[in-house]
Amino acid sequence: MRSPICLLEAQIAGAPFNVAPEKASLCAQQRDNHKIDFVMVDEPKFGVRVRLDADSQTPEIVLPIASLEYLWAFSHYCWVLTQEYAAAQRAGAKQFDCVGNERLRESTHILQWAKANLVNSGTAQWPEFGPRPKQDSDSCDDSRVATELFLCTIAWILHHEIAHVVLQHPMIDTAFSEQEEREADRYATDWLLDGLPQDDPRLRKRALGLTVAVLCLQSLEVDTVSCLRNTHPAAHDRIFKNTAIYQVGNDEVVEAMCTVVLQYLFHDTGISADVDGASFSEILGELLYDISRAKSGS
Ligand SMILES: [Zn+2]
Repeated sequence: MRSPICLLEAQIAGAPFNVAPEKASLCAQQRDNHKIDFVMVDEPKFGVRVRLDADSQTPEIVLPIASLEYLWAFSHYCWVLTQEYAAAQRAGAKQFDCVGNERLRESTHILQWAKANLVNSGTAQWPEFGPRPKQDSDSCDDSRVATELFLCTIAWILHHEIAHVVLQHPMIDTAFSEQEEREADRYATDWLLDGLPQDDPRLRKRALGLTVAVLCLQSLEVDTVSCLRNTHPAAHDRIFKNTAIYQVGNDEVVEAMCTVVLQYLFHDTGISADVDGASFSEILGELLYDISRAKSGS
């Protein structure tokens, strides 16, 4: 097997339907109307995108295996980091060590491997030891949660790509405009969250999926050398826009995950959150503001 992520191929292809079962038939209709197809390829850099198939001239969504591997590893890390951070906070810890225990070290290791593979050949073999995607496991371990989160995340990304087709954005060789990217983001976010009441338990899982997606894109923009293939709106802006549209419950789980993961991502750049803020929404708002200022060089 090329990669353990290929074990999830059917679930990945089914993700746009299964993420919001109440809209699955509409999704199937769009796929059939526009003849949208998927293709898994081997190439480096984060490059999930839609293009016209050279022969049939119908849209196909390109899923590079290395991008999917990174997305899975990133989902795993977001979950583990947020859990461990919350546990440390509950225990009243003054400091948080990102590699303070085996669970964190294993998750970090896989994420670092996936990132290195993304910027190199994109064809390295998944490490023999440590967390990995599994087809179906009855256990409730971190890998199982990571897969659940990953499938929500890839569903948001796929709906973003489907949006470019459905909204009839011109599919030329150059990148989509920033306006078109925003429309596709909004479409994907609405697809996952629109129509669910605020206290619906399904809302939280889907909201975490889109959060991991936008955080993942941010994680590839922190370094000066971009690992992204095409130009998208600044990731901090996407995080703000896509997480602020819907109120998800009142426990601020989305804001908490964003804050914890962004602190980790920006650890080396001197940007850190003032965690004494009144709420996670407030903390996150200030953190995103700091990031945007740093990015624009002011
Ligand atoms: Zn796009």
